[in-house]
Amino acid sequence: MQTTGGGDLDYDVLIIGSGPAGLSAALQLGRSLRSVLVCDNDEPRNGPAAEAHGYLTRDGIAPQELRQLGREEVAKYGGEFRDSQVTDVTRDEDGFASTFDSGETVTSRKVILATGVRDVLPDIDGFEELWGSGVHHCPYCHGYEVRDEPLGVLVNNQHMLEYAKLIYNLSEDLVVFTDGNDIFDKETISAFVERGIGIEEEPITALNGSDDKLESISLADGRDVARHALFYPPPMEQHSEIPEQLGLEVNQAGLVDTTRSQHGIGFTSVEGLFVAGDASSGAPPSIASAVADGYAVGTTVNMELSKKDFEEGWR
Ligand SMILES: Cc1cc2nc3c(=O)[nH]c(=O)nc-3n(C[C@H](O)[C@H](O)[C@H](O)COP(=O)(O)OP(=O)(O)OC[C@H]3O[C@@H](n4cnc5c(N)ncnc54)[C@H](O)[C@@H]3O)c2cc1C
Repeated sequence: MQTTGGGDLDYDVLIIGSGPAGLSAALQLGRSLRSVLVCDNDEPRNGPAAEAHGYLTRDGIAPQELRQLGREEVAKYGGEFRDSQVTDVTRDEDGFASTFDSGETVTSRKVILATGVRDVLPDIDGFEELWGSGVHHCPYCHGYEVRDEPLGVLVNNQHMLEYAKLIYNLSEDLVVFTDGNDIFDKETISAFVERGIGIEEEPITALNGSDDKLESISLADGRDVARHALFYPPPMEQHSEIPEQLGLEVNQAGLVDTTRSQHGIGFTSVEGLFVAGDASSGAPPSIASAVADGYAVGTTVNMELSKKDFEEGWR
């Protein structure tokens, strides 16, 4: 038996985004007998990568396969799917009305935004083409695969110096690129040089590669520096415009500020609307964190529904 307690709404919960966060929330809700619709416009953040790493029991799986497995598990508990974009979410006293790009609207008691983030890539020739194959955002996800190779790290502001240290143990052949930004004081330069790390302070003009592999990095002075992978954690922005439409607070890191209470996590300033996964300030960006956050937000939403159903005597 699945419920849509107490009203004429189409679903208990609409989940926007069928990445690890949305699917994990859907699994918990389906197993709690909630009617769930999960919708997605097929632009997963890790879509450019051939393999996903670091998620226990699925290390190295193709991102699309992981999602497919997730969908199959959610479907076992009655979860429904719709492959289209949600363009608009409005709230009234009964719940939410969400509109698809087709113009059709569905109603639900709660909404979970699991819409993820977009990476804002620098405007450098070849960067976007090599993103996810020769250029990586995260050493935990893709560092092992390029260990001991000639590596680069792009450090274009002071805060990223710590990130460069994360790449240090992956290879003895490491070059830090500042892309023409004035990052290093003398002390920092000697600390890097003493450890055998190269520093290139010229602006980068292009990343060169073929067959999805980085081969070299061209600099403004005309030199090409041979590298097999470049690491860079770009700034992020919300993937979807819905948080902005609903007036949700987005912090400096580009994440929706969510709160926790003794009843759960993922709450936003709009009652009944929750955020899970990369899009939320509550989840460090990775598949494992998105799954964990989706689980916690899914159970939080079920708790909210259960309290209401109990108060009203709905089944
Ligand atoms: C290149 C790359 C490689 C990565 N590799 C790894 C890795 O190996 N291991 C790891 O742990 N992490 C990796 N990550 C991070 C990982 O991809 C994210 O942490 C994870 O996908 C977050 O899951 P999520 O469900 O929050 O968001 P996502 O997986 O991004 O899913 C969000 C979904 O919401 C959909 N959506 C957005 N707006 C709408 C809308 N309005 N209507 C309908 N659907 C919408 C999107 O199409 C998308 O499918 C990688 C990231 C990048 C950029």
